[in-house]
Amino acid sequence: MKCVVCSRDAGEKGYCELHLKAYENIVKNYDAWKKALEISWKEYLSGVVKNPLTGEWAKEVAEYLIKSGDKESVA
Ligand SMILES: [Zn+2]
Repeated sequence: MKCVVCSRDAGEKGYCELHLKAYENIVKNYDAWKKALEISWKEYLSGVVKNPLTGEWAKEVAEYLIKSGDKESVA
């Protein structure tokens, strides 16, 4: 199985190791944001993509999540 974002070998959840890390950070940060702001998952993801401080990996994951219309899939 390939990573849904790049074409490296994927493990858990369809992400490679690097993108899985980025994904986990995105979800974790959203939990923190949600407590402070009224922000939807989609709005949050757009913010991640637009933020110049967002790392390349996280940006790719956020773009993928927006495109795929993924619901907040927090385990
Ligand atoms: Zn990847």
